[in-house]
Amino acid sequence: MKAAVLQELEKISVEDVPEPVCGDNEAILKVESCAVCGSDIRIYHYGNDRVKPPAVIGHEISGRIVEAGKNVSRVSVGDRVALGADVPCGKCYWCTNGMGTNCKINYAIGYQFAGGFQEYMVLNQTTLDFGPVTPIPDHVGYDAACLAEPLACAINGLELANYSLGKSIAVIGLGPIGCMMLELSKLHGSTTVFAAQRSAGRMEMARPFRPDARFVLTSEEDLVETVMRETGGEGVDLVVTTAGSVKSHEDAVQIVRHRGYVNLFGGLKNQPKLELDSNLIHYKECFVMGSHGSLPRHHQKAVSLIAGDFVHAADYVSRTYPLSEINDAFAYHESRQGLKVVVKPGE
Ligand SMILES: [Zn+2]
Ligand SMILES: [Zn+2]
Repeated sequence: MKAAVLQELEKISVEDVPEPVCGDNEAILKVESCAVCGSDIRIYHYGNDRVKPPAVIGHEISGRIVEAGKNVSRVSVGDRVALGADVPCGKCYWCTNGMGTNCKINYAIGYQFAGGFQEYMVLNQTTLDFGPVTPIPDHVGYDAACLAEPLACAINGLELANYSLGKSIAVIGLGPIGCMMLELSKLHGSTTVFAAQRSAGRMEMARPFRPDARFVLTSEEDLVETVMRETGGEGVDLVVTTAGSVKSHEDAVQIVRHRGYVNLFGGLKNQPKLELDSNLIHYKECFVMGSHGSLPRHHQKAVSLIAGDFVHAADYVSRTYPLSEINDAFAYHESRQGLKVVVKPGE
């Protein structure tokens, strides 16, 4: 079978490799769709402590079970499933207390476990026992279903920030996660919604996901000034920074209202530390927090929101590529011309 193997930094080659063998406690998934994530691109350029080349990455996955070991009851041959990325170990303090995203081991598909940029992959026992393996209804396409993974992370981010009906929100950074936040804001009945983005092209791509939001092009308009003016100096209940930039994090603390939440969702790798006026947090009594990844139950919610057409996952797919053109898929992702790029190992 074919697999896209990360050989070393900035080198992925499509190779013929042996088909995986299914153990008694394992299952084999035929990968139909695996979307490219920003973190795949970071691994490609900079590596990751949890990825040891040669390795197969890719963690936004959907496909069909083609083999199940004799002790496996969770899935059966023929099941259509989507996978999340984070796999709780199921045994540490965090996992046994329902906080698997903080698992000490922090297993993930496409990291320690081989990922989706290959024709067939193993679902190992830990994944089947504790991981995000969610059935997808027949009417949901594989390309849409694989995007349940990033959607699950967005859902976790909103849940941890105590987002609820009718709250006002500002989303800074309108990549795919930002657009998902906009769609989720509609489901929460938010009517005051700011959507901020530096580049005009990205902003236009995001507009259809929440046309009634107040879009702020931050290269031309000052976000802090705009939000404060248009909210009567109050700010918003929740600010989510999906753009991993120091400026977006600093702005977020400025525009959150008293008792509001700031979710520093976008990581800041290799960037300077924040200049944070802690007095702002002190006097606002606001909550500055972060989130990353998701739990299996978020992944289940994500699949059901996609299946119910509450989140329009298919609309995020700008292009698809066969596995043989994975390097083109990565280049297209990096060009930022589209939202999501999906690799199709079966084509
Ligand atoms: Zn991802
Ligand atoms: Zn754990």
